[in-house]
Amino acid sequence: MNIPYQNFNNIHLPIEIELNKAYMKVFKSQWFIQGQESKDFEHRFAKFCDTKFCVGVGNGLDAIRLSLLALGIGAGDEVIIPSNTFIATALAVSYVGAIPILVEPSLDTFNIDCNRIEEKITVRTKAIIAVHLYGRLANMEHIRKIAKKNELHLIEDAAQAHGAQVNNIKAGNLSDIATFSFYPGKNLGALGDGGAITTNDKDLADKVRALGCYGSNTKYKHDFMGVNSRLDELQAAFLSVKLNYLEQWNNERIKIANKYFEGINNQVIRLPKKCLLGENVYHIFPILCESRDDFQEYLKDSEIATLIHYPIPIHLQNAYKSMGAKKGDYPLAELISNQEISIPLYPGMSEEQIDYVIETVNQYCKIS
Ligand SMILES: *Cc1c(COP(=O)(O)O)cnc(C)c1O
Repeated sequence: MNIPYQNFNNIHLPIEIELNKAYMKVFKSQWFIQGQESKDFEHRFAKFCDTKFCVGVGNGLDAIRLSLLALGIGAGDEVIIPSNTFIATALAVSYVGAIPILVEPSLDTFNIDCNRIEEKITVRTKAIIAVHLYGRLANMEHIRKIAKKNELHLIEDAAQAHGAQVNNIKAGNLSDIATFSFYPGKNLGALGDGGAITTNDKDLADKVRALGCYGSNTKYKHDFMGVNSRLDELQAAFLSVKLNYLEQWNNERIKIANKYFEGINNQVIRLPKKCLLGENVYHIFPILCESRDDFQEYLKDSEIATLIHYPIPIHLQNAYKSMGAKKGDYPLAELISNQEISIPLYPGMSEEQIDYVIETVNQYCKIS
């Protein structure tokens, strides 16, 4: 049995007619940027997140970057982020001239350890970016308290958590401004690049929209030096179709994850902690294994594709040599980089495939 890491045909072929219709609609409209489709999708996604506003942008990285700019964060400011996130979170901070300050995660949740945030706050700290890593909501209640007490802006990087919710409040509605990516492999993915912000603050929404459109809200009148970062009509049309299925796909992800929790019982594998239903939409199913590289080879030989999220932590990336960090400075981020492996989990996985992954993982024993 050959099991890919993910499979787009499983979700796209059943809605092929709808996607083709969306394409033809844009094609015939002769309007390809900033038209009815992006407007519609923004409304629908704001409604889905239960926020007042949604603004489409070019990708998830720009969503974070433009949010920081809209909040007035810039040169010399410090922004707290987790030490084990995807590099985009850090890059967005660096792009606006601010300094990413890394805080170690909890190994139970893989999300930022709330008890370690306050020791990193200085007079220069302006914001916290909470990342819902692997699809699991960060502890927003705790983080919000810290942000409020210290008068910091709070941003959610929700690139991996479309539809995750706690107490019926969705990712995207748990902070001052939230950022999403619609990279194809995300829980809600376009057929290309795309991103968005959600917020309840009209000023922030207007500012992000202007920033992504050359700093202009009125054609040819420029109030800021903005960039070009917009969600295009085709991607918006595809996303509107796919949004109708997001909940169904997320539920399927949760079901598969629960099978993994029930079935995987290998002593050399550490599973993530289970959490309340809906708080995790399992963008990724991360497991830890001390002999990770050997384990990955073994799975590959058994025709199970896997990925590592992420093999090099931010502080050890060449791009961040300027941080002056060395091995050992962020031991938990390093542990995750050394031991994490993501096993296949995608809508449309068959029972046989799920069982085969469980069985194969359970049969692994390290021959050292
Ligand atoms: C994917 C991702 C991003 C960046 O999104 P792009 O659309 O690829 O620019 C940012 N943060 C996290 C946590 C991500 O997973």
